[in-house]
Amino acid sequence: FKVPAIDNEPMRSYAPGSVERKGLVEALAQMEKELPFEVPCIVNGKEVKTGKLAKQPLPADHAKHLCTYHEADQATVAAAIDGALAAKKEWESLPWNDRAAIFLKAADLVSGKYRYKLLAATILGQGKNAWQAEIDAAAELSDFLRFGVKYVEELYSQQPVKNAAGAWNRIEYRALEGFVLAVSPFNFTAIGGNLPGTPALVGNTVVWKPSPAATYSNYLVYKVFEEAGVPPGVIQFVPGVPEEVVGQAIASPDFAALHFTGSTLVFKKLWKDIAQNLDIYKSYPRIVGETGGKNFHLVHPSAEIRNAVTQTVRGAFEYQGQKCSALSRLYVASSVWNNGFKEQLLGEVASLKVGPPTDFQNFIGPVIGRPAFDKIISYIKKAKDAGGEILVGGSGDDSKGFFVQPTVILTKDPKSVTMVEEIFGPVLTVYVYEDADFEKTLELIDTTSPYALTGAIFSTDRKALLQATNGLRNAAGNVYYNEKCTGAVVGQQPFGGARASGTNDKAGSISIFYRFVSARSIKENF
Ligand code: GLU
Repeated sequence: FKVPAIDNEPMRSYAPGSVERKGLVEALAQMEKELPFEVPCIVNGKEVKTGKLAKQPLPADHAKHLCTYHEADQATVAAAIDGALAAKKEWESLPWNDRAAIFLKAADLVSGKYRYKLLAATILGQGKNAWQAEIDAAAELSDFLRFGVKYVEELYSQQPVKNAAGAWNRIEYRALEGFVLAVSPFNFTAIGGNLPGTPALVGNTVVWKPSPAATYSNYLVYKVFEEAGVPPGVIQFVPGVPEEVVGQAIASPDFAALHFTGSTLVFKKLWKDIAQNLDIYKSYPRIVGETGGKNFHLVHPSAEIRNAVTQTVRGAFEYQGQKCSALSRLYVASSVWNNGFKEQLLGEVASLKVGPPTDFQNFIGPVIGRPAFDKIISYIKKAKDAGGEILVGGSGDDSKGFFVQPTVILTKDPKSVTMVEEIFGPVLTVYVYEDADFEKTLELIDTTSPYALTGAIFSTDRKALLQATNGLRNAAGNVYYNEKCTGAVVGQQPFGGARASGTNDKAGSISIFYRFVSARSIKENF
């Protein structure tokens, strides 16, 4: 069998009056009427209601919550691990075509039957506007599932290139021995599906702890897997207190791998904890993580200003800057800054509408929760205290939802705190460099922050693009020319970075699947 060619899921426009706008509005109204939902843990395909309850509030209206969920207790996590180990043999020995069919069906459920529901849960629960939710919970999620099948097919076909006479050499790509722990973030419903989905596709069984702030959309993703035919026990859905669930899972001798997206701090802590447990494990665990970013745009004197401004606004402020890839430090040549860039940037940012994401007019929605709101506001204050000039925005309103005005800060100190540390909110810091200092600015970008996730260079001069690409060799895992530094597309721009940004195993590409298989070479003499 060969899986037919696969294309990216087309994005819908949600234009006023369109069928899809109507479908989504209805799904939102229905969900708002029915909330709060009750979400159980799911172990071996069965609902487990531990009675240890927690809530997922609506970021745009924190008096309400989208769901009440049952947090996994110790017995539930233990049952999830045991069940994952028990389910593994049958799952990994299923013919590849059957596993592939299940994932292709899951993709069709995402892009078809479940589309508006997944979008509605992402809009209400995670505060994305309709288009940001479409990119994520419809397009990227189904792309991860479909392209994953194609990549694994390619992986399995990679075989030794030579046989000696009278022999056949081959490689079997086995699932890892033990179970995989997936720990997913709030900011992409698609990553919620990808973190358990990628290891499961190659025959692993997975204990999945979703982010508390994305519980409901991630529960729907679980229901998609279930309806598509993922057998009981293959993906165990265990929301709960992060340290408890994760701590218990990595203390198991059968822990085989971590598939993580989240903060650098937590990832480093987990890595250290895993190292402490090394002697109890059967194999060296695979550790795969996508963590923080402090992503840059570099605008050269030759840049096309209109485009650079638009891309800057989108890169910094889409989804309130809560993408790992979001732009947060801008280096702009003074001739560009003073010849229209500044004026256009401030005008565009000031015109962005802020408000509930259910209103299609709003570009900026709420940030995810109380700790995020407080952290972002405190960074704006720190920038001011350090002499930064607030050019636009600078305030927030948490009376009903967690809203922060899109904020642009001008700094004269390229190493000031908001040029260095990750904020994860709608805050852009600008440093204006002298045109003659382009080369020095490359050095500055490279050495200012510990992260290396994404970056973009704006120039119409190919020599400058080359100079920047070479000068910034290790400063980003995803580089864009004349386009914003967010929005990597599965199958088109494999995504991930090194340094403090992660293990750079490239989501949305074949590379990541190698991390979740353990190859066995077999030589047969005839
Ligand atoms: N892949 C996403 C992008 O390029 C970002 C993923 C993340 O935030 O972790 O925008």
